This record gives sequence, C-alpha cells and structure tokens, in this order.
Amino acid sequence: MTGVTDHYDVVVIGSGAGGGTLARTLAMSGKRILLLERGNFLPRELSNWQSPQGPAAGRYVSRDTWYDAAGNSFEPRVHYFAGGATKLYGADLSRLRPADFGEIAHMDGLSPAWPLSYDEFEPWYAKAEWLYQVRGLHGEDPTEGSWSEEYPWPPVSHEPLVQQIADDLDRAGYYPFHVPRGIMLDERNPPASLCIRCVTCDGHPCLVHAKADADLIAVRPLLSRLNVTMLVNAEVTRLKTDRRGHSVTRVIVRRDGVREEYRGDIVVLAAGAVNSAKILLRSVSDRHPDGLANGSGQVGRNFMCHRVADVVALGEKPNETVFAQTLGINAFYLAGEQRRPSQPAGYARRWPLGSIQMLPRSARLAREAIGFRLTTEDLPRPANRVTIDRGKRPRLAYTATNQGEAALLLHEFETMLSRSSLQLTRDETVTVAGVTGAGIADQAGTCRFGSDRATSVLDVHCKAHELDNLYVADASFLPSVGAVGPALTTMANAIRVGEHLVRRLG
Ligand SMILES: Cc1cc2nc3c(=O)[nH]c(=O)nc-3n(C[C@H](O)[C@H](O)[C@H](O)COP(=O)(O)OP(=O)(O)OC[C@H]3O[C@@H](n4cnc5c(N)ncnc54)[C@H](O)[C@@H]3O)c2cc1C
Repeated sequence: MTGVTDHYDVVVIGSGAGGGTLARTLAMSGKRILLLERGNFLPRELSNWQSPQGPAAGRYVSRDTWYDAAGNSFEPRVHYFAGGATKLYGADLSRLRPADFGEIAHMDGLSPAWPLSYDEFEPWYAKAEWLYQVRGLHGEDPTEGSWSEEYPWPPVSHEPLVQQIADDLDRAGYYPFHVPRGIMLDERNPPASLCIRCVTCDGHPCLVHAKADADLIAVRPLLSRLNVTMLVNAEVTRLKTDRRGHSVTRVIVRRDGVREEYRGDIVVLAAGAVNSAKILLRSVSDRHPDGLANGSGQVGRNFMCHRVADVVALGEKPNETVFAQTLGINAFYLAGEQRRPSQPAGYARRWPLGSIQMLPRSARLAREAIGFRLTTEDLPRPANRVTIDRGKRPRLAYTATNQGEAALLLHEFETMLSRSSLQLTRDETVTVAGVTGAGIADQAGTCRFGSDRATSVLDVHCKAHELDNLYVADASFLPSVGAVGPALTTMANAIRVGEHLVRRLG
C-alpha cells in the first residue's frame, strides 16, 4: 500500500459487492485508488461459526440505529466490514432473468424496464461469475437467459435427500435446478477443497475462508498493490462540491473518530443502498439544497428489499443434509407460461410469483423438518424511501408490496409439495418481511439508473446525472430487484462501471 495522501485518481467509498468489485476492476489499470471502508476486516475466529442466536442477532451486527417513518428506532442488522454484506451472505450468485430487465406487470403495479437489456448486460454476468468462482450449471432452469460462458466450476452436488426431492419435483414438471453458489468447494479433489460443506454458510462469516465474498475475492488481493490505498474504520460522512456544484471535490471522512478529507478525480459511492442515499442526502449545499445528485428528488426513493417466507415441510425420515442450499425452483418465477403436466391445457398464471430454494437444516426444528425459502419481488415505490431527519439520522419509510403474490406462491408451493413425499407443517411457517427482518439484507434501489433524468439518479454508466465525476456502484443502482438475490447483479454492474471508468481515465 502507498502512504496516505489526499489526492487520488479514484476514491471508492465502501468495499462490498459493489465497491470492492469495482476497486478490483480499476486497480488493474494502475490508477491511484483510495478505498474507504467504514468497518474493519472481520476477525477470523471460532465465533465465525458459533454465533448462537443465528445470523442477525450475532456478534457481527453493527450497533447502527435507523428510524422508521413514525420516528421509532430499530436496529437494521447490517454489517460493516471489508467485503460488506457479502461477508455474511449465502453466496447464492444467481442472475436476474431476461424478463426482469423489461417491464413486468405485478399484482401491485409495474416492475420498471431497465435502460439495458439482459443481452447487453450478460457479458458482465459472465465476468462476475468467473471472478467469484461460481459453481453452477446452465440449461437446467427454463427461466434463465442465454449465457456467453459456462460456469467456471460444476454445480455443488445435491446430497441424497435433496436429490430425492429434486427427482420428485422433476417428475412432477417443476424443473428443479442447482443454485449457482460462490463457494470454493472442489468435489473432484476433496483434499484441495477449501469448503468443508457445513450448515453455516448463509448468515455467517466463513472460518475457513471458503466463501467467495468481496473481501477475499476483490479486496485482499489489492492490498499488496502499490497503486491502492485502503483505509478501514473510515466512515464517509458527506461529499463537498466545487462552487458551481458540478464536481465532487472533497470526501469528508471520520476515521477512528478524527475528521479527514480526501480528493479524487472520480468519486464512486458504494456504501450500500441506505448508506449511499444517506451520504448524498446529508451532502446539502447552496447548489444542492435537497442533497447531492437529488435535483429530481429521486435520491433515497424506490427502496426495495425482498419478501421472504421461510417455510418448513416434514419429510418421512430424519433430515441429515448438511449443505441443503443446492436446490432451486423457478417454476413460478414468470407469469403466463410453463404450464405443468398436472395443470389443465390453457392454464396461464396471471402473476409472476417468485423463486423457491431449500434452506439448511435447523437444530431448532424437528429432525424430519426441511426448510424452504420463498422469495417474491418487491416493487420500487417512491414512498418507500430513505430520508434524513433533523439530527441527520436515516429514516426508512417502507410498506411491503406484492403480499398477494407471496400468498399465491405459498399456495403453489403447497400444491407442489402435495406432489412430492413432503408435507407442509403449517404451524412452523415463519414469514419474514419488512425492513426489520431478513428483508434489509437485500436493500436496493435508492439511486436507480435510467435514461430519464426526471425519474432516475444515475445515467446508464451509473454516473450521477447532475455531476461530472460522481458515480454510484452498489445495489442502489437497481431499478428493480426481481426475485433473486442482488449480489451477482451488483458485482457484474460494478465490473461494467469499473471498465467504463478505466476507459474514461484513459
Ligand atoms: C445475511 C445475508 C445473506 C445474504 N445472502 C445473499 C445471497 O445469498 N445472495 C445474494 O445475491 N445476496 C445476498 N445478500 C445480499 C448481498 O450481500 C447484498 O445485496 C450485497 O452485498 C449488496 O452490495 P452493496 O455493494 O450494495 O453493499 P455491501 O456489500 O453491504 O457494501 C457496502 C459497504 O459500504 C460500507 N459502508 C457503509 N457506509 C459507509 C460509509 N459511510 N463510509 C464508508 N464505507 C461505508 C460497508 O461497511 C460495506 O462494506 C445477503 C445479505 C445478508 C446480510
């Protein structure tokens, strides 16, 4: 690492899926980069695997406090570490479906079209899959789009019980598939495999560093590079512009409690959807009285997360599966098509309902219990938004959308189970929705990109419409979230924006 100076070619704020991946893309150009991270490196310790009360309540959750629309405080259960939320993510690295890039009619309104098509975006999906060493298999799931490259590794194989369920569902016409995962598991050569297959992947840091997170894959390889400086415990509090308000000239940081300032020809904000909006909204000035890049009033709006329901089914024998998150079902993802053999001719589902995945075994449940996660798309609503109160604290107003579709997905799921050897245990159905539960994990959409300055914050390259040198490259850019996790799409977009910046910087 170089020593700390105050001027860089590019200052990147946040080292997660967006910021970390973008910094790695840029670093190869030799440009001088400053990476500012609010947290520190997550310690490698036995507690990585021992968090007793599950992911959200564990020791790695930040003490941050946010407020809801009524001003009530809540703990958002976010993680501030090098690598961002990917340090604890489940490493499900799924692509959005081609339909997600177009306009989709939902029960509660429209999911808007992107300024890019799936085919235009696809090359960066392939690059992100190779960078994050994704294990997957194209061609199993009829909802997926075309691919320019095969996955770098074969999919993680199903354990016997999961394989049995997959076979059942395949016979019933539900097209089960292997979920693409960013874990470093080498089943062909077990001694060389980092991953030892355990139940703690989702919601825990990986003690053996076998999870392809943004820290291990993107950030750590940069630390030995002379053109990259990384500062941890460095919280960006606001951005300042030149007098005309056209360019960001100073990045204000609180590092270990001390105020510092840095400058960059280009500034890339990637602090996560809520925190990026917070930084912009706090950066008021005469030229930007409503916050930076916010002439359209769109900064902070269109916040999205996912509607998630964790559902428990009962099998005939004890569930001895260790790594169950290999099975996915997208048979209900799209509206209108994919009539199953069991359905009458002419059956067309009116609404897109979402995705289904198997969950790891839980010690809290019966031995025969088998968990599934049902995920439904959340729609961008202007009123679902981040604002800043008088004390400059973040407020998050949020009302979930598509509850009707979530109910229909549960209904389809029940029907699907009735065609397998599993039974749904109604008593043990747990619904998690809203921003105080697991939903915040997939926060997105607060600075969406688009071609219309009146309805978006960023242009197609993720540069703020109103500023010459400010980019946003985290999950904020998403105009819609589909019903898959946002991580791979955020990483792919960060590579795309990084390559644009390399060209811009010459
Ligand atoms: C438990 C859990 C499981 C998940 N599982 C999956 C999954 O399996 N698949 C999937 O697709 N998605 C998953 N996600 C979501 C996924 O991790 C996020 O969508 C993704 O990390 C978002 O990327 P980002 O760059 O927007 O934010 P992050 O990756 O969170 O990065 C933001 C970074 O900015 C830093 N930061 C924040 N504020 C400041 C500031 N003021 N100054 C400097 N730095 C700052 C943060 O510390 C962080 O490092 C999961 C999330 C969680 C929490």
